[in-house]
Amino acid sequence: MASTRIFATWLGHGTFLLQSPEGRTILIDPWIETNPACPAAWKNGGWQKQIGKLDLILVTHGHSDHIADALPVAKATGAPIVSVYEICSWLASKGAPAVSGMNKGGTQAIAGVHVTHTHADHSSTCEEGGQIVALGEPGGFVIRFEDGASVYFAGDTALFGDMTLIRELHEPTLAFLPIGDHFTMGPKAAAKACALLGVTQVVPMHYGTFQVLTGTPAELRTLVPAGVAVVEFKPGEKKELTL
Ligand code: ZN
Repeated sequence: MASTRIFATWLGHGTFLLQSPEGRTILIDPWIETNPACPAAWKNGGWQKQIGKLDLILVTHGHSDHIADALPVAKATGAPIVSVYEICSWLASKGAPAVSGMNKGGTQAIAGVHVTHTHADHSSTCEEGGQIVALGEPGGFVIRFEDGASVYFAGDTALFGDMTLIRELHEPTLAFLPIGDHFTMGPKAAAKACALLGVTQVVPMHYGTFQVLTGTPAELRTLVPAGVAVVEFKPGEKKELTL
């Protein structure tokens, strides 16, 4: 398991494109066109060329900065969307070509990987026609790759103690955690999350996009437990990660 290699590309904010060890591509929380942190090459439909073939789209919750481009990307690529049941039904009603709704605690095999839907302490709504629409519970995901190694993608969340159960059940070695504060946990709580999860690497996300998201990777670095590497991306940057 120590030699599992994946690629990750950060599109800014909470949006990542992952490539599994066997080359499957997974887009998480697609916010591209109006994402101020997303590089220009991805905008105005540039994502179509950048992404190429797409195998799976994961959506953690319904806020527009996580779901805005899920539908156009799904329609263009035909990739199935995995999210909580309510979001999948909502996206299907708007023409998503393939959805596979689930709920917390469940695992499904899809696109060559195993996806487990995990808890998140947050909210999940969208605005439609001037109304706030509820879109079920927010969540996170554990993605178990073909060879058994797994990563934890927290989505937007506060720190919660049951991260210890994610550690016991799924043993992720790498976590994608929000650190911006205000809408999610900040660096101090994210550092504690690293301890609860037992990960050796953390990729910080959901910071810097707006003024109120004040947490920084530099601050996180001073707080994480010994032995935890903070893997910092620039928007648009692609890195190889060893799990
Ligand atoms: Zn949110």
